[in-house]
Formats: sequence, C-alpha cells, structure tokens
Amino acid sequence: MSSGHYLGLIHRYGHRMDISRSVEPVSLCEGNTPLIPAPRLAGAFGGGFELFLKYEGLNPTGSFKDRGMTTAITQAVADGAKAVICASTGNTAASAAAYAARAGLTCAVLVPDGKIALGKLAGAIAYGAHVIAIEGSFDDGLRMVREVADRSTIALVNSVNPARLQGQKTAAWEISEALGDAPDWLCLPVGNAGNISAYWLGFNEAFEAGDITKRPQVLGAQAAGAAPIVTGKRVDHPETAATAIRIGNPARWQQALDALKDSCGNIDSVTDEQIFDAYRLVARTEGVFCEPSSAAGLAGLKKAIENGVVKPEGKRFVAILTGHGLKDPDSAVLNAPAPLRIAADTDALLKALNV
Ligand SMILES: *Cc1c(COP(=O)(O)O)cnc(C)c1O
Repeated sequence: MSSGHYLGLIHRYGHRMDISRSVEPVSLCEGNTPLIPAPRLAGAFGGGFELFLKYEGLNPTGSFKDRGMTTAITQAVADGAKAVICASTGNTAASAAAYAARAGLTCAVLVPDGKIALGKLAGAIAYGAHVIAIEGSFDDGLRMVREVADRSTIALVNSVNPARLQGQKTAAWEISEALGDAPDWLCLPVGNAGNISAYWLGFNEAFEAGDITKRPQVLGAQAAGAAPIVTGKRVDHPETAATAIRIGNPARWQQALDALKDSCGNIDSVTDEQIFDAYRLVARTEGVFCEPSSAAGLAGLKKAIENGVVKPEGKRFVAILTGHGLKDPDSAVLNAPAPLRIAADTDALLKALNV
C-alpha cells in the first residue's frame, strides 16, 4: 500500500537519478520545498510580471545542499566508504555532517577560518563533524580535499562529485511540476557553480522527457568581489559578506558558461550593498528570510530589469533562495539598530508606540 508520506528525493525521483540504488537511501526527507508567490516583491521591482521564490532554506539543514547530500552520501555508502570530506563556505559542511551522521560515517569539513556564518558552524559542530578551519579560502580548501580524496579512501562530497548534481537537479523538476511548465527565467546566485549546472541538467532532462515545453533562461549573479565567471578571470582573494558565494575559482565554471549560453541567459555581478538591499527587501515585502548569498539572485534580477537586459513584462520568474536567513543571524542583527529598550511599564510602551 502506498501512503502519502513524503520520504525524500531518492524515494521520489531515484529512478531518474544516475546513482547506485544498491543501498537504502540516506535521507532526511529533503526537497519538496515551497514555491512561494511573491507579488509584493515583483511590484517593488516594477511589476508587470510573476515572481516565485523557491525557498530552499526549508531543507532539513537549512540549504539546498541537502538535495545533493542525500545522493552523495548514499553513493558513498554504496561504494563502501567509511569517511567523507568536503571543503565548504558553511552550508555544505553542515549538510555533509548531518547526512554522514545519519549514515554512521566519519565526516571532516574544511572551512575558511572566520569566514563562515555562525548557524552553519553550529550545525557542523552539532552533527559531530571534525571541523577544520584553514588559513585560506574555499578554493584552497577544495584543492586540499581533492588531493586527500585522491590519496586515500575518504570520499569527496563537494559538488565536483557527480552524485551531488543528481540530487540537486530535482529542484528543477519540483518547480516544473508546481508551475505545470518551466518558468521563463530562473534567477540564482553562483559560487562554485554546482547549482546552476544541476538546474540546467534538470531542466534539460525534463524537456527531453516531454515534461515541459520549454527551458528557462538562466540569470546568474555573483558577488562583485568574487565574480570570476562575470569577468572571465580567476579571483585569488575573493571578498564578499555573502560568504556562501565567496569563491574565486569555480569548479564547474565551464558548465556554468554552457548553461548560460545554451539558455540564452546572462550572468552579472552585484555589489554587497545591492545584495543586502535585496536581502532586506524580500524579508520585508514577503516575509521570507533568506541568507545574504541567496538574495544575490534577486539583486541580479533587479539589476537586469533596470538595465534592460531582461524585459519582464508578462513573464514568469523563479528565484532560488538557496539558504535560510537564520543560518547567518549576525548579518541580520549587526547592521541593524538595536531594539528599543523601555521599562516594563504600559505607559512607557504607549509612549514608545506613539499612541
Ligand atoms: C552553496 C551555496 C551557494 C552557491 O552554490 P554553488 O553551487 O556553489 O554555485 C549559494 N547560496 C548558498 C546559501 C549556498 O549554500
């Protein structure tokens, strides 16, 4: 008897994934995230079009990385691995740690010292990973863990691992199913470029299967201080407060270029100021709290509309909100005025409320 109980991505889509099916899926019931209509935000961007937010922050560890980790850790178990490793700007670390814990594997994560948001570090620690802070960038960490994986039996679970994309491509299918077809445009932040590659793979497979009648144009956004794909030059010292996309040498650079070209899309850079404006705006207009990096896609959309790269009238847009705002509480609190403090007294409250 089949029940309606949702059991995660491999359970739902495993027959369309190029991964081993020889072991039980390692799952936290990831995926199946909401696609939230955002009419007020669309209005703030000038209106005349439809906008939806794919709220990936509602995955079990708070980011889309869980989509790729269910497949990467399941494949690692099938391959007989006893330990996994990754370099991370934070979310991959938290996700790898959680799925490794669930599978009973040892997990080590390399993070750039001092450049990881508190909620991500907290997750990796809570799930019992060996957290190693390196005096270097994500790119340095990725080089190191690739070499370790080559020289040992430890499995690498960064998005250079093809099993990651097999899980992450499912978000394209969820969007297509929810809307009945692909959107006209897909907006998302680009760091190591695993996600943009996975979406493009997913939309292509859905198109070839006849599930959708068109593929979206892809609109990527990088932070101005970490925009190698935009400038065509590797960035040796990437800098941005959007730490999840603080990456100077994306592993899937060429695949991102292919997705942009094949989809007649575009990629541009956005300043940290533009990212934080979008970050505040989506929370205040729609009640959806994402982390700063996630808002880069929205900042990119705003910029593309303003400079005429995108003609939005009558079109349908989906913006991927890659991670939850609570992952990075400092970004919300430290740049904002402190809450008003008053005595525990109703008259003081009435005065404060100006009534
Ligand atoms: C990993 C991550 C990104 C970047 O995704 P890539 O696949 O590296 O391009 C963007 N936002 C958040 C919140 C992330 O965790």
